[in-house]
Amino acid sequence: MMDEDKKGVVYLVGAGPGDTELLTLKGYRVLRQADVVIYDRLVHPLFLEWTKPNCELIYGGKLPDRHFLRQETIQDLLIEYAIQGKCVVRLKGGDPSVFGRVAEEASALREAGIQFEVVPGITAGIGAATYAGMSVTHRDYSSSFAVVTGHNQSVSGEPTVDWQALTQGVDTIAFYMGVKNLPFITEQLLKHGANPEKPVSLIQWATTGKQRVVSGNLTTIVAKVKAAQIQNPAIALVGDINQLRQEKSWFEEKILFNQELLLAKAGVESGEMAAQLSSLGADVLEFPRYVIEPCLEGQVVDYQRYTQIVFMTQSSIEVFFESLRQKRTDIRMIHADFIVRNSKQADVLQQYGCQASLLQDVTLDNSGLLIGEEGARRKVPEVVSHFEYLGLYRKTVVPQSLITFQRMWEEERIEKIIFPNAKSVEMLTFALKGTNFTPHYLSEQTSIICFGPITSQKAESLGYQVTTKLKQPNVNELISHLSSEYVED
Ligand code: SAH
Repeated sequence: MMDEDKKGVVYLVGAGPGDTELLTLKGYRVLRQADVVIYDRLVHPLFLEWTKPNCELIYGGKLPDRHFLRQETIQDLLIEYAIQGKCVVRLKGGDPSVFGRVAEEASALREAGIQFEVVPGITAGIGAATYAGMSVTHRDYSSSFAVVTGHNQSVSGEPTVDWQALTQGVDTIAFYMGVKNLPFITEQLLKHGANPEKPVSLIQWATTGKQRVVSGNLTTIVAKVKAAQIQNPAIALVGDINQLRQEKSWFEEKILFNQELLLAKAGVESGEMAAQLSSLGADVLEFPRYVIEPCLEGQVVDYQRYTQIVFMTQSSIEVFFESLRQKRTDIRMIHADFIVRNSKQADVLQQYGCQASLLQDVTLDNSGLLIGEEGARRKVPEVVSHFEYLGLYRKTVVPQSLITFQRMWEEERIEKIIFPNAKSVEMLTFALKGTNFTPHYLSEQTSIICFGPITSQKAESLGYQVTTKLKQPNVNELISHLSSEYVED
């Protein structure tokens, strides 16, 4: 159509407070389309895993004392990439309009004639209250809610707000960026007539596995926060709604709350496992991310020669059908029996309209064809080792997933590494080869959990020190192991 003069679009997207599932559907859609993502420090690194494999990821993160990219530079980048016709996402923590400088970015884009959209997000004040078990305007406690900065650009950094109006007129106040100025904030509220017993909570890293809550009142909170070493990012939530807070919120009660896991990825199944673990409250990075690349170049295979074809993996089935499609081969030309190793693979074949038998149920011929991953012939079960082997695809690590890993590591969001099978040990080690993250270093810094004896052997042979070998190699055993350990803590 009009592709030649395709203009780029910039989406200024609010990522929400942390929990990746709190992103809007619109935010999710544009993030998946993006050619370039410029993301902030407060954005959970797991979002990066949803981008396209070749998406350019730029850290526009600002640490309180260090500015990696100046605001003007970010704006220039947004414009530059859009002029190149790219789909650009500027991913910001919470809601982009709440202390997010989105207006500056929007006006720079407007001036440059670049099309843009702003996608709202859940702001930290509301997300933090909710995940700490409170609701900002519970009708018994509060009929108003204010979002207030705890910091400003003045030399002292102390916020200039109408303290009298705030103290007298608002029931629930969420102070952002307020940890450093907490003594000043509580002092102002007290000075303007607040009840010294007025409850206050500090909620750090709300909605993520690192969430911590410290509660007190206007006279005790400063000392408590200091003792607990709460730092930014945290919301100071002032108001009677704090009475709603139980010892643990619904979120903190989840059995895997506070668990920060790296699930070494091996097969298509790990996606389901990751989803299950995170639905129980864990933060889970599946690593490394890889793509399946068909290696069909120069492969002319006469499938008609075979009476039996064994598919080693689910990907081998998918790539097989893709290769038939590309070569315009009619499936009815192939008369071989299709054999798979488990019922899940049989289901996948059925989606292509083909019935399969399970390997354990068939009588094998003297010759046949095995289809699997390139270079994986040595993993073939003994009973079919006399079959010919065709490597139809390879797994290629998406380099961007290393960026996610690094960010997760720097934010101390990886406490345990889980190896579900031997292949996953190889994949992870391969992906981190040449970095400082050697098996030795990872074992020193994290716990290493292996599903079974073969996996443990593999891990040990590559230099890991295995902390836990699960009694049963399955996800339920993993969950009970993780949750029992958590209680012991
Ligand atoms: N646009 C963001 C706010 C940016 S200002 C929003 O709407 O949420 C940065 C401040 O937000 C931090 O200093 C902290 O006070 C707060 N914040 C952001 N994410 C947070 C989180 N997960 N937990 C607690 N506070 C958070």
